[in-house]
Amino acid sequence: MTSSVFTAERLLFNPAIPDTDAIPTIFAFPNEYCVGITSLGYQVVWATLAMRSDVQVSRLFTDTHEQLPRKPELLGFSLSWELDYVNILNLLESLEIPVRSNARDNNHPIVFGGGPVLTANPEPFADFFDVILLGDGETLLGNFIEAYKEVRNADRQTQLKALAQIPGIYVPSLYEVEYHAADGAVKSIVPISTLIPDVVQKQTYRGNVLSASTVVTEKAAWENIYMVEVVRSCPEMCRFCLASYLTLPFRTASVEGSLIPAIEKGLSVTNRLGLLGASVTQHPEFEALLDYISQPKYNDVRLSIASVRTNTVTVQLAQTLAKRDTKSLTIAVESGSEKLRRIINKKLHNDEIIQAAVNAKAGGLSSLKLYGMAGIPGEEPEDLDATVAMMREIKKAAPGLRLTLGCSTFVPKAHTPFQWFGVNPQAEKRLQFLQKQLKPQGIDFRPESYNWSIIQALLSRGDRRLSHLLELTRDFGDSLGSYKRAFKQLKGQIPNLDFYVHAHWSTDQVLPWNHLQGPLPQSTLLKHLTDATSHFNPSQQELQPLKV
Ligand code: SF4
Repeated sequence: MTSSVFTAERLLFNPAIPDTDAIPTIFAFPNEYCVGITSLGYQVVWATLAMRSDVQVSRLFTDTHEQLPRKPELLGFSLSWELDYVNILNLLESLEIPVRSNARDNNHPIVFGGGPVLTANPEPFADFFDVILLGDGETLLGNFIEAYKEVRNADRQTQLKALAQIPGIYVPSLYEVEYHAADGAVKSIVPISTLIPDVVQKQTYRGNVLSASTVVTEKAAWENIYMVEVVRSCPEMCRFCLASYLTLPFRTASVEGSLIPAIEKGLSVTNRLGLLGASVTQHPEFEALLDYISQPKYNDVRLSIASVRTNTVTVQLAQTLAKRDTKSLTIAVESGSEKLRRIINKKLHNDEIIQAAVNAKAGGLSSLKLYGMAGIPGEEPEDLDATVAMMREIKKAAPGLRLTLGCSTFVPKAHTPFQWFGVNPQAEKRLQFLQKQLKPQGIDFRPESYNWSIIQALLSRGDRRLSHLLELTRDFGDSLGSYKRAFKQLKGQIPNLDFYVHAHWSTDQVLPWNHLQGPLPQSTLLKHLTDATSHFNPSQQELQPLKV
């Protein structure tokens, strides 16, 4: 691909003219241009850097780039998808920068990273980065640049130690990790000096102006989309959910002060609008927003909504979507079992799900996609029967509505109350069971790959020892077989796959992210865990090894 992709861009901000001594910076997205430019987080960080006259930023993707500085001082990566780490290592090599931070010297740029994957658990990737920015970029990014300017001419170690003083800036090499054994759990994680903070606090932005697209282009994966962030986080706190726990508290963009001006600006250059956020329809003024978008002047606007809470699917919402070129709606129900929903803290009942389907149909939508999960902690075979029965009821209540059940496997995520649970090895069979039951009833069942869930779990609960494994699998390919092969090769040097993926971890165990503080204290996560386990059948031995 040539750099002509950049000429198709319509910018919605004014880039600054860089000062003569501006910091030469590369900001990369470790995937193709069309993927990277569709990431709102990437767009916003790039524009923030480009609007500063003290930074000269060039963008780098795996298939194209702007003109790159000969000697960059800063090289940033936005990581939204775990397996893109392979592309980070490839890009580092193509720039002739050592992939491991401990092999870099004063002649190399400071390699920094941010984004949801690194904020959740950066440890498997920690050895590849000099600096990791944890949390919301709004103030963190500016603080990082200002702090860097103070030590711009210092040696690398001085720079890293100074940067580590800034709240939310994590310098992995300044923390030492000890293990109970080479293949055992983490014993301790301590800073190498008393001058380095014991704990890095993830940063939270508290303003009511949230993000919006800074560029619109036909070359984006969602062609010409203009995205606005309506809410950040989700107040529901389902106990497995990273999108809620990692980004709490729930924040909403002001309709008058933020959303309407942003939408007006975006719709002056395109007619495709995406409303983003973990729980868009939970915005307290969502109806006012919907009324605004329903104005006749926006009749030709194509509207996509990232997430719709099931009990907010009204006939009006369905009608607005149907009129705006959306024929289908996705709602996350997790399971048809009321017991499981109590375990995960999902405050939703089957009758509300059925009502949502009835409303979707009445409003003119042609299909409804439900999203569920297999292997939820505490799940028993009868819970799967309950899911099958619920799907049958929905079909009966809303005949003609095309029904799909997408289903993933429960994967533990750092900073959530379910971080201590392992992946249930029965989940694969349970996905097959659902498939067998639902297909004959004309319900489209779409399971997410179980093997992919295993890799996700490995990375989401991994520690620094996995960097060796990641370097090996990079050469072997990204299938589960490649990971298993790499584990075999490193046998005795790191814990086995089961330890990371399937084992239930003791709540006394030092977690690989113990030194990185999320929004909630551990005591609150433990309270949620205790409440969840109180709904289990005590005879289920395999789900009881937790010491709470
Ligand atoms: S409602 Fe959805 S986004 Fe909100 S906490 Fe539950 S699973 Fe997460």
